[in-house]
Amino acid sequence: MIIAVDGPAAAGKGTIARALARHYGYHFLDTGSLYRMVGLAALKAGGEPISPETAIAAARSLDPTSFTDAELRSETVGAAASIVAVIPEVRAALLDVQRSFARREPGAVLDGRDIGTVVCPDAEAKLFITASPEVRARRRQIELGSADYTAVLAEIRARDARDSQRATSPLVAAKDAVTLDTSEMDITAAVQAAIDAVDAKRVYATPYPSPPQGERAG
Ligand code: C5P
Repeated sequence: MIIAVDGPAAAGKGTIARALARHYGYHFLDTGSLYRMVGLAALKAGGEPISPETAIAAARSLDPTSFTDAELRSETVGAAASIVAVIPEVRAALLDVQRSFARREPGAVLDGRDIGTVVCPDAEAKLFITASPEVRARRRQIELGSADYTAVLAEIRARDARDSQRATSPLVAAKDAVTLDTSEMDITAAVQAAIDAVDAKRVYATPYPSPPQGERAG
């Protein structure tokens, strides 16, 4: 089974997606980290402004072992990720790795921006996790230990605009996604709402068990 979890930055989708993977015993992929790796590799190779050629080369020769988690999580790298994510060749280069991960048994949870719409349009369960920009900025400010709320809010708004307005795979809820607005929820409530939404889909995704051997209908 594939569970697609999409939504804007700092809406809680990473935490929810990880919790879902733990709950169901599925594999988990944070696809944003792939774009962050490309953004960081492009910054290291060519500096700013990032050239499309440098970003495409970085995406085609990505080595996930050459980055630390700490450097990938910075706001600078998040912004670089959303810049390289606009480039169609970068997105194409990252498609196979995401799709083959999604096929892992017994199931996979992928979080990102276009999982339910482009990467795995056939996912059995799709969630779109959102929250107001102000709530997301507050959460990100705490996560980053940053003093400057206004700057974090401006960065969130800029990232939303870039992610939603790009021509290739813009951030948008899939038609068949369940939308969860976590603005007024704590993490326990948000995870429970996500589990309830996935359970409702799993009823249809799980095939009926075959009758025990020797048993005959009628
Ligand atoms: O989720 P995260 O904030 O780590 O993602 C960083 C950036 O990578 C996003 O702002 C977005 O531009 C890009 N991204 C994307 N498609 C995905 C995942 C992330 O375009 N599936």
